[in-house]
Amino acid sequence: MSKQIPEVPYKTYLTEDELPKAWYNLRADMKSKPAPLLNPATKQPMTAAELEAVFCSELVSQELDNDTALIPIPGEILDFYKMYRPSPLVRAYFLEKALDTPAKIYYKFEGNNTSGSHKLNSAIAQAYYAKKQGLKGVTTETGAGQWGTALSMACAYVGLDCRVYMVKISYEQKPFRREVMRVYGASVTPSPSMETAVGRAILAAHPGTGGSLGCAISEAVEDAVSHEGYRYVLGSVLNQVLLHQSVLGLEAKAALDKLGVKPDVIIGCAGGGSNLGGLIAPFMGEKLRGEADYRFLAVEPASCPSLTRGRFAYDFCDTGHVCPLAKMYTLGSDFIPSPNHAGGLRYHGMSPVLSELRHQGLLEARAYEQTSVFAAAELFARAEGTLPAPESSHAIKGAIDEALRCRETGEEKTILFGLTGTGYFDLKAYEQFHSGTMTDFIPDDAALEAGFASLP
Ligand SMILES: *Cc1c(COP(=O)(O)O)cnc(C)c1O
Repeated sequence: MSKQIPEVPYKTYLTEDELPKAWYNLRADMKSKPAPLLNPATKQPMTAAELEAVFCSELVSQELDNDTALIPIPGEILDFYKMYRPSPLVRAYFLEKALDTPAKIYYKFEGNNTSGSHKLNSAIAQAYYAKKQGLKGVTTETGAGQWGTALSMACAYVGLDCRVYMVKISYEQKPFRREVMRVYGASVTPSPSMETAVGRAILAAHPGTGGSLGCAISEAVEDAVSHEGYRYVLGSVLNQVLLHQSVLGLEAKAALDKLGVKPDVIIGCAGGGSNLGGLIAPFMGEKLRGEADYRFLAVEPASCPSLTRGRFAYDFCDTGHVCPLAKMYTLGSDFIPSPNHAGGLRYHGMSPVLSELRHQGLLEARAYEQTSVFAAAELFARAEGTLPAPESSHAIKGAIDEALRCRETGEEKTILFGLTGTGYFDLKAYEQFHSGTMTDFIPDDAALEAGFASLP
């Protein structure tokens, strides 16, 4: 066996004492802040009072706080984190060997909990603040189902009703994910549904539609605002979600500091931007403060290329246009990735924080076609053992390409990437890949123009 693990550890864990006790708010160190959310009717910045009709109060204050760098994590949330954190920082020795690269590759693995992804980090925070406010329950949307699962777990823990609108095509294709949510007591409705006015309108206009995230968001928001004691929660995109996900980057940085290692490039997949925003936060903070330099790379699907081909503009966050406007890289709220797209990361927009960083030239972005992403996923699975989620595999593909470049140049770069979750519920997509029925699709400029036409 040539695959021996050298002197430094394969996995690095923090002790409980070393876990972060505060979230890091990257906005505090941004000289040019992300643009505020706007009220779609008045085009004025959303006030806290307006936002509190939809979101929990404490989360609204986190959403609007551009100045406080460190926000203490409440003890109850720290306790919950202890059930599945710290997550390991892994040195991908076996992948390095397989690639024959001089690069050193590390990944932060977030798949070690039942929800199977990083989304639990924010779900517990949002459920905790909702419960603390005395609410009865929360509503949300879920696409592939990871966010809905994470929120169900968090709501079961704090004792809160959880109503999930699940994109209909996923509801039908991923019945197991739906059942996991029901184990934790959530009610799961396929979207679009007849339960909301916006759902009924979308069904009337598009009978037989498989639904979309943007449409499920509209239904979940309508459900929350029309029921006493309910609020809406969202698993990505928003500033508050990136704030909670900073635990990811803080843990990764503390573990690397313990090893005396400084990454050259930090890579994450980008759907709405929460894992990437969380992972890069403390590193980007150092860069913004002039203390250190890093490269940051976002990886997205070529079939939903918001950061690489989108417009930086104010747009609706949802298809039904009930949410505030956000300034972000967007493909337009009418944009829906082609039906052959199986790799996740299908949201039309991107976190305003990441969008602003991209606009300032601080964040690189790259798009890959899905067959190349699944090929990278398999290479990774065979080398490192873990079955990755298709979403995470975009970051794997990005890291592999960086490492292969090092093989050509001989550079011994250190690469850190986020392995956001496991792929056990994505085997339909792997099946398509194996049977050769998976195809690539890159929208042409005319298709993107059609999406941009829906910009307000
Ligand atoms: C939701 C999800 C993503 C993408 O969401 P971001 O907000 O961009 O992080 C990536 N990986 C996994 C496993 C997910 O569940």
